Amino acid sequence: MPRFFDIAIPVPMRQTFTYRLPERLSGQDVEVGRRVQVPFGNRTLIGVVLSEPVDPELDPEKIKDIQALLPQESQLDEQQVKFLLTCARYYHHPVGDVFSQALPVLLRQANDIDLRQPLCWQVEPSLSDDDLAEKLASIAKTAVKQQALFALLKKQGAMTWPQIRLSGFSKAQLNALLKKELLLESRLPSKVFRFEPKLVATENKLQLTTEQALVVSQISQHLNQFSCHLIDGITGSGKTEVYLQVMEKVLQQHQQVLVIVPEIGLTPQTLHRFEQRFNVPIMLHHSGLNDGERLQTWQSARLGSAAIVLATRSGVFTPMPNLGLIIVDEEHDSSLKQQEGFRYHSRDLAILRARQQQLPVILGSATPSLESLHNAQLQRYHYHRLTQRPGNSKLASMQLVDISTQPLVYGLSGLVQQAMRTTLEKGEQVLLFLNRRGFAPAIACQECHWVCECQRCNRPYTFHHNQQLLVCHHCGSQRRVQKQCQQCGSVRLSPMGQGTEQLEQRLAELFTHYKAVRIDRDSTRRKGELEKRLEAIADNEYQILVGTQMLAKGHHFPNVTLVVMLDVDGALFSYDFRAPEKMAQLLVQVAGRAGRASKPGKVLIQTHYPQHPLLQDLVNNGYEHFARFALMERQQAMMPPYSFQGLVRAEANNAYLPEQFLRDISSQLNNSECALCGPVAAPMEKKAGKFRFHLTILGKDRKSLHQTTQLLIQLAEHHPNKNKVRWHVDIDPQDM
Ligand code: ADP
Ligand code: ZN
Ligand code: ZN
Repeated sequence: MPRFFDIAIPVPMRQTFTYRLPERLSGQDVEVGRRVQVPFGNRTLIGVVLSEPVDPELDPEKIKDIQALLPQESQLDEQQVKFLLTCARYYHHPVGDVFSQALPVLLRQANDIDLRQPLCWQVEPSLSDDDLAEKLASIAKTAVKQQALFALLKKQGAMTWPQIRLSGFSKAQLNALLKKELLLESRLPSKVFRFEPKLVATENKLQLTTEQALVVSQISQHLNQFSCHLIDGITGSGKTEVYLQVMEKVLQQHQQVLVIVPEIGLTPQTLHRFEQRFNVPIMLHHSGLNDGERLQTWQSARLGSAAIVLATRSGVFTPMPNLGLIIVDEEHDSSLKQQEGFRYHSRDLAILRARQQQLPVILGSATPSLESLHNAQLQRYHYHRLTQRPGNSKLASMQLVDISTQPLVYGLSGLVQQAMRTTLEKGEQVLLFLNRRGFAPAIACQECHWVCECQRCNRPYTFHHNQQLLVCHHCGSQRRVQKQCQQCGSVRLSPMGQGTEQLEQRLAELFTHYKAVRIDRDSTRRKGELEKRLEAIADNEYQILVGTQMLAKGHHFPNVTLVVMLDVDGALFSYDFRAPEKMAQLLVQVAGRAGRASKPGKVLIQTHYPQHPLLQDLVNNGYEHFARFALMERQQAMMPPYSFQGLVRAEANNAYLPEQFLRDISSQLNNSECALCGPVAAPMEKKAGKFRFHLTILGKDRKSLHQTTQLLIQLAEHHPNKNKVRWHVDIDPQDM
């Protein structure tokens, strides 16, 4: 009897497909989660087996054969398959694409791949102390980095290349030590992680404050079962120490820990703190790794040999058979949401996964999302607060600076310049926050006011001085700088407004005795550049820090005692109902960078609207008060988290098609329990040459949102223009 299997394959259809196991393979075991190669149309695709053998619904004659079974060593376990199926259902996303996205790139292909454990290096264990001392003496005194790398490996035991690189060392330095026969190269053992007391560096453990101790003990009472914990702790209150101590308890049970951070930029410092505490295999997952390195993380996590996986967003899909705890740090951060393709929220999936696998999940933030605070109010989450900083470091004070009545020099008010001088003269650092990269946000004609716009987005090009390019920040298109106005022919074109690149240049003129450094996506594009700049800042090589929201994220700048927010007004009058929340989070997070050590910090916020109630509330009453108020507003307006939202988005080469498409499906919908709003044009109606519209679904509960979404998808799939418009569903959208 031939056997048939349901298989998920990466095609844009919301269904699975049945294939036959051919005679020549019939001797083999085929388990749920096995990767297989199957024909689809005239292509060959990689799929994942979803079921035990099934009775086919189709005529068996029409069913195609599985072409090959891929190595069992790359199989997903049942737990993982169940989780991914739930993800696909929750987000109404094509199941095959969910599986494909959840796999490392190399496993989306059929090629022979190296599934061995990663290489690692440790101090040669066969060398006696005398030998070591002798060999060590052969490293030149001037080769400081080699010395340091050796010391690190001696302390840490075996380390993989991504770990060594993140600790600030180069391949050349590693090779130099190898050549001197100081190191042993091997592969990480594939044995399942087992805890031993000597793996914890107890000497680095901090004596917990009473608040911290309470949180650790409360969470520790909930291990081995599902529970969700929100740690609402001001910046610098020691959330990381709480994570570390709970992690230790989980590791003690021989279980694995998954830690998700929103930004790749946060991995070095977090990794460093983990390494200082735990001498266990820690694997990384982020976009800075190459495909092979990512596969190694996946594989050692899957085998259970990685004790800790430190990951960005998509790491939530890492298979971990002995998972005992998930931590989502900076849970409010919008980069946890994937904004294209499979649009998932990593925090929400972490919670879903924890529920399914019956384990605790910790969400941490100094500025929790309104969703999470709401869940805490409803007692769905355990709510823990950390209100103090250990030691005597104080939170920075915030002050509004009215710029509606005073002239600015390069965007800086007199008061701000004065405060900067005073701070710099004391030998302390200043952080200037400007959320706009590039030199200037537009180039305009001085005579007729024509603005050079991206034709594909109808938005001004940003001028990048260093590259001498105009770049559209919406679609990424670039062009050379224009010399002449296209409307009147004048050559008097000049930059309008100021971005970080320009600010950095101007500061050199204004503060001649001090050095400024810029931290934004442009200046840190090269691998290792961010770490290098952060290190130089820590060494006080720079006194003025200029940056975008990259600077707001989790970094510690102990010598920064003045933070200036140059331009926050945009968020005060936004169409986006989440804008005030995001802005408040940003302000508090940036403020949190200041005055970490014993030096008190100060935050100056330049605004044209110092009387604005949102700013007043935040500055005078703090984030918690602000959040409570914002939640009340959401409740009155019946917006999330008091309602459940989904979007159907559609786009096409003209404005008519997507609007009509959405209008049709919404008018065909009967008996919906949800309110439908729209279709309306997206706030950016045209992007990358496409006209964009959306239909909003608002449900009073999740079940009705799911039902209505399901119905709309069916209507969309039967619409005659379904192939002329590109459409997709976004559940719990973060932006319009
Ligand atoms: P958060 O993650 O909440 O911003 P961190 O965990 O980074 O805060 O802690 C801020 C600083 O306080 C760190 O330098 C950390 O070493 C220190 N710290 C944390 N907990 C303690 C403690 N119990 N005793 C002394 N110092 C602590
Ligand atoms: Zn002109
Ligand atoms: Zn564009």
